[in-house]
Amino acid sequence: MNIGILGAGQLSRMLAIAGIPMGFNFIFYSPSDQNCVKNLGKVINKSYDDQEAVIEFASLCDVITYENENIPYETAVLIESLKPLYPSANTLLNTQDRLLEKQLFHSLNIPTVPFKCVDNYQDLFDFVEEYDFPVIIKKRTQGYDGKGQIKIISNKDLVKLEGEMLCNLIVEKMVNFEREISIIGTKSLNGEIAYYDICENKHINGVLHRTCNKIKDPIFENAKIYLNKVFEHFNYVGCLAFEFFQCKGMIYANELAPRVHNTGHWTIEGTFCSQFENHIRAIVGLPLGNTESLANFEMENFIGRLPLLNEIFNLKDTYFHDYQKEPKPGRKLGHISRKIGYSL
Ligand code: ADP
Ligand code: MG
Repeated sequence: MNIGILGAGQLSRMLAIAGIPMGFNFIFYSPSDQNCVKNLGKVINKSYDDQEAVIEFASLCDVITYENENIPYETAVLIESLKPLYPSANTLLNTQDRLLEKQLFHSLNIPTVPFKCVDNYQDLFDFVEEYDFPVIIKKRTQGYDGKGQIKIISNKDLVKLEGEMLCNLIVEKMVNFEREISIIGTKSLNGEIAYYDICENKHINGVLHRTCNKIKDPIFENAKIYLNKVFEHFNYVGCLAFEFFQCKGMIYANELAPRVHNTGHWTIEGTFCSQFENHIRAIVGLPLGNTESLANFEMENFIGRLPLLNEIFNLKDTYFHDYQKEPKPGRKLGHISRKIGYSL
């Protein structure tokens, strides 16, 4: 069976590494020429709006999925007209735009921090009048790893933006959360659902640095309820990650990722069946695997540079993943996961 993946970054790499031993072949479609998936399958290096190339790609695949939500909606619709696409084009549309996503949370009665659509300076000014500093503005689409976001802490930051083109943004009240958490679940074609333990996540300047699983966390049941609402709404198939801010025992939805997620990398070694394997099982209609945590695990991203192999392999119970990417400041190049209790 041939599985197509839109995108050729580290998530595609880890999906293929999980799926190859199961007997699947992989075909990657990506506008950028990356090393991550080299030798893991056929790579089609064309732009997403090259209809002919997209049709050719679809003709080679039995089922298609994606590794990021910044794929043009039109491309997803075209693919869906040709082959099964999971998660659906409609799911992609509603999760690639922060405004649509936040409106979805409201329609499903999932709490969020206060937010508003911003299309000019006055919109932003009015929001600050109502909710006060600090606030954060975010591009509605195409942002990731904190890109396309500006924190507005004081009046000085606000007035700087007065002459700027402000449109297609949202503004959110910045919250002083106790912790950031995420939950990842998988729903298969035949309706089966499996959840991983929630994770506690540390971001620096909007980029994920560390994650640890929290076995039987008190917030797990609540997070599961919210995840289920989204599963149901979209008639979802595949892995879904849901990020939250926790404040005073309450959780507020931050964002969804309709795919495997960086906060689930620990599941490769920390569970019997990783998020990557379960995503593949889900989209081809196989029974899902066991998601129970095997131990307390911690995952750490390597951003901008990789440590020396000696440094890593001197540590006990540590697993290393090199994504084979060109080093660049701010770029995620690899990660380690390890049982908690050892430090680098
Ligand atoms: P991205 O798509 O880049 O992950 P997020 O909306 O998740 O975008 O923002 C990245 C990080 O920035 C969050 O994980 C969090 O640490 C911080 N952040 C974003 N929005 C808020 C907010 N309203 N209040 C406090 N911190 C925030
Ligand atoms: Mg995020």
